[in-house]
Amino acid sequence: MELGSTAKYPKWATAYKFPAEEVLTRLKDIIFTVGRTGRITPNAILEPVILMGSTISRATLHNANFVYSKGLKIGDIVAIKKAGDVIPAVTEAKLERRTGNEKDFVMITSCPMCDTPLEKKEGQVDYFCPNPNCPARKINSLIHFVSRDAMNIEGLGDEIVEELYNLGFVKTIPDFYNLKTKKEQLLQFDGYGEISINKFLDNIEASKQNDLARVLYAIGIPGIGSKTAKVLAHRFKTMDLLMSQTIEELEKIPDIGHTLATNIYAYFEENQEFIQKLKDIGINMQEINGDRKEHELITDKKFVITGTIASYTRNEIKAILESYDGIVSESVSKNTDVVIVGDAPGSKYDKALKLNIPIWNEEKLQEVFSKLS
Ligand SMILES: [Zn+2]
Repeated sequence: MELGSTAKYPKWATAYKFPAEEVLTRLKDIIFTVGRTGRITPNAILEPVILMGSTISRATLHNANFVYSKGLKIGDIVAIKKAGDVIPAVTEAKLERRTGNEKDFVMITSCPMCDTPLEKKEGQVDYFCPNPNCPARKINSLIHFVSRDAMNIEGLGDEIVEELYNLGFVKTIPDFYNLKTKKEQLLQFDGYGEISINKFLDNIEASKQNDLARVLYAIGIPGIGSKTAKVLAHRFKTMDLLMSQTIEELEKIPDIGHTLATNIYAYFEENQEFIQKLKDIGINMQEINGDRKEHELITDKKFVITGTIASYTRNEIKAILESYDGIVSESVSKNTDVVIVGDAPGSKYDKALKLNIPIWNEEKLQEVFSKLS
C-alpha cells in the first residue's frame, strides 16, 4: 500500500467507517523537549491522522525506556490510541510494515537547548538537564508560573512568554511584575497591540492578590501539584509559617511524606531571596480563602448528576457541592469520583456502572448533606 505523503492524511486512515479507537500512522521523527524541572521527554512526530475526531500529529513517548521497550524506530508505522480518551499514545510499531529504511532511536546525551551533558539519577528512568540556567527550563518555569492553575494570568500564552523571554523582557519570574515600566518598548514590537499589552499588564498586577495556594503551586516546588499547594496553604495560612517548618514537621502532614517534605524544605532553603523578592513586589503570601469549607467526601471530588432527585433541584445540589469545592461536571469518565443518581437516570448511570464509579442515591445524598455545617 502506498503511503501518500502529499495527501494531508494518509489514504488508509479514511478507510474506517466510524471514528476508530486506534489508528495507524507513520512515526516521522522523535524530538526531545526539556521541561521546567529539566526533565527530557522524547516526543513522537507523527504523520497527521484523525483519531476519535481530532487530528493527531504528536504524542509523548515519556522517556527513553518507553521507546526501547516498544522497539520504536523512526519511519515505523505505529498504532495510536487515546489513553483515557484524551491523550494520544503510541501503542506499538507494526513490525510487518517495516521496509528496512527505518532508523534506530538514539537517546541524546546532552541537552537539546543548552548542550549540557544530561544526568540520570540512580533508579530513575528520566534524564535531566542539570543546568539551572537552561533556557528551556527557564521558559517553561515562566510558562508554568502564569498558567491557569498557577497565577492564572490571562493574555500571557506560552508563545508570548517565550517571546518575552527571547526578547529579554522577562528572564525571571519577578520580571513579569516590572513589565509595566517597559510598556513603550513592548509597543515597538510587532504583534503587541496596546489593548493586548494593557490586558496582560492589568492581569499581572491583579495576580498579586492571588491566594497563597496559587503562589505555592506557581513557584514550582519540585513535586508540589496544585492540590498539595492547597493543602499546604490551608494548613499554614502564611508563607512565613510554611517556610519555618522542619522536614519532620512537614512530613507529618497527610499526603506529604518524606520525599515531598524534603523537597519543600530544600526549596525554601535555596530560594529565600527569591521569595523575598516576590514579597517586595507585593504578591500576597497569605491564605485568602481561609474560611474555605471542606468535607472529605466533597472537597476536590468530581461529581456528575443524572436523573431527578426529589428533595433538591439540580442547581441546589450543584451549589452545595461547589460551596465545599466539589467539582460538578457533565460527563462521566474514569476521573469522576461520584455519580449522583436520581429517578429515571440517563446513560451516565450506565457508564458509571461500567466504570465502577461510586454511586450516591437520594438517601446517601441526604445523609451526606444533612451532616454539612
Ligand atoms: Zn538544558
